[in-house]
Amino acid sequence: MQIYINGAFYPKDEAKVSVFDHGYLYGDGIYETLRSYDGMVFKLIEHLARLKQSADMMEMTLLVDEDGIRRAIYDTLSRNGLKDAYIRVSVSRGPGEIGLDPELCPTPTFVIIAKQFFDYRREFYQEGVKIAVVETRRIHPETLNPAIKSTNFLNNIFAKMEAKRAGAFEGIMLNHANFIAEGTISNIFMVKDGVLTTPPLIAGILEGVTRDLVLRLAKTLGITVYEELFTEAVLGEADEVFITNTTMEIMPVKEVGGNVIGPPGKVTKMLAEAYKQEVLRCLRTR
Ligand code: PLP
Repeated sequence: MQIYINGAFYPKDEAKVSVFDHGYLYGDGIYETLRSYDGMVFKLIEHLARLKQSADMMEMTLLVDEDGIRRAIYDTLSRNGLKDAYIRVSVSRGPGEIGLDPELCPTPTFVIIAKQFFDYRREFYQEGVKIAVVETRRIHPETLNPAIKSTNFLNNIFAKMEAKRAGAFEGIMLNHANFIAEGTISNIFMVKDGVLTTPPLIAGILEGVTRDLVLRLAKTLGITVYEELFTEAVLGEADEVFITNTTMEIMPVKEVGGNVIGPPGKVTKMLAEAYKQEVLRCLRTR
């Protein structure tokens, strides 16, 4: 496995960053997770735009332009002989003296890890997964805006630990005002009487690339879509629930806490199919 670090490739065992890197010392960094299908990095433009937005929001200058990052990602795939890959791009503030001031770190550390993508278990898609609404709240957007895809992930890790204890595939966090926000690594959607609803960005969530695509596909399919706040009680009474992210795409949910939702419903299936078609369309037009 060859890892990209600041313009050079290193074998996995030699791929190292400094213990003075503020990513390590303070969780001062950002990242993107991407997926490639048959050598095509899906929604690359959207992921790079979000990486740039995250960098801007934390006043970090990416020393590589969009084209350079795109080339680095594709180089990493070809160096590793990968077609269907999980790709992680991380940019930390970089090495510098101990202290919070970002000016101590003149050069960000840019890392790309790519590895073979292995599908989630088939029965997850056929039957749905179990999710749980956890006690850990999504961090308040005025404390640390979840729109920044930050490597500072303790909020989500606490939620994940709770989800694991509950035997759930994903933990769903409420926001500061008791509304459903998002999962530890996913956005959430519900369907009631044929209407698709997902929390709005003002709920204090990450604007998922998959979420945006699902919203667009739903509109194309003529499904009524709302970006609206809803509570845990409303979620428990949904006809269909699914979660989304780049690697799992559209993952049906069969149970929320104790509430049985059931096997994947009509809207979930339609959107999952439309998503697959979108991947195929991008493959044809690459
Ligand atoms: N919400 C959070 C907190 C995430 O970490 C992620 C992905 O990692 C998502 C949502 C989904 O984002 P995307 O669809 O861009 O993968």
